[in-house]
Amino acid sequence: MQPSESVRSGNARTEGIQEKLDRIEKTCRLRTVGGKVASYIPELANVDPKLFSLSATTVGGETFSSGDSSVLFSMQSISKVAALAFALETFGPERVFRKVGTEPCSEPFNSIMKLEMSSNTPLNPFINSGAIMIASLIAEALGEKAIGAVLAFTSLLAGRAPGNGLTVNERIYESETSTADRNRSLAYFMRSTGALPCGVEESLALYFRMCSIEANTKDLSFIGATLANGGMSLLSLETVYAVLGLMSTCGLYSESGQFAIQVGLPAKSGVCGGILCVAPAQMGIAVFSPPLDERGNSVAGFAALTALSREMKLRGL
Ligand code: GLN
Repeated sequence: MQPSESVRSGNARTEGIQEKLDRIEKTCRLRTVGGKVASYIPELANVDPKLFSLSATTVGGETFSSGDSSVLFSMQSISKVAALAFALETFGPERVFRKVGTEPCSEPFNSIMKLEMSSNTPLNPFINSGAIMIASLIAEALGEKAIGAVLAFTSLLAGRAPGNGLTVNERIYESETSTADRNRSLAYFMRSTGALPCGVEESLALYFRMCSIEANTKDLSFIGATLANGGMSLLSLETVYAVLGLMSTCGLYSESGQFAIQVGLPAKSGVCGGILCVAPAQMGIAVFSPPLDERGNSVAGFAALTALSREMKLRGL
């Protein structure tokens, strides 16, 4: 990653970052009270609830980490960021936003009710119905090659070296496929209205594989830094604006408003317990701690990002 102007001119905010991450890791690692590890996907229930990692990658490409930052976990809904970026780059915003909306949803991430009430168009690409629609668009266009193309694209965003790309955890994929009644219902509903571009099983197979892509917080903070840096040569600025805008308004589902108040930065969570966060023109940040609150967001992750945003004045104030 080429250093951006702010880094070349010496951005004081990157100074002392390692100490800050270490301090926040110590204070937030065990702040999981009231949180529960997701168990509706059986494989996720096997994850150690005590894991915690926090990484930050500056727009200059330097990564700092604290905690269990080499531990891989499935991206779950964080993969929806890469899937949306891929769809916008491949099909253009007009086609994508004809199939999914751009407005927040006050219901849980797997809600069926809003889908029926919103003229059959998912409210946004980050709730499950919207992400299944995006997967369906990609699966229709690329068929069998779809998952390989998304993996290669996500690996580039994450700064993975050639030959060391991200991969799908097949155990998690199988576990999710076999317990996916709710996601199947969403897909069948969208097929019944003629909205789904390709078959239910092809759409879901790609969606579940994308959710099962494994990464660690270093990878995710690098994806954040790519976005913080305007997309580098991988994404147009229009794509970055759309992705960051939707992360700001819809990234933590029905807790996006609270997150905006506490942290004030675009972010995307997943039921894995990860949160990817972007401080534009400054850095990408990723945190991982599996216990979730009742809205499906990492309890300790939320606390750690609140602390980091304030300590580093990441929203400029
Ligand atoms: N794979 C999960 C699902 O479809 C993703 C949900 C999430 O991370 N919020 O239910």
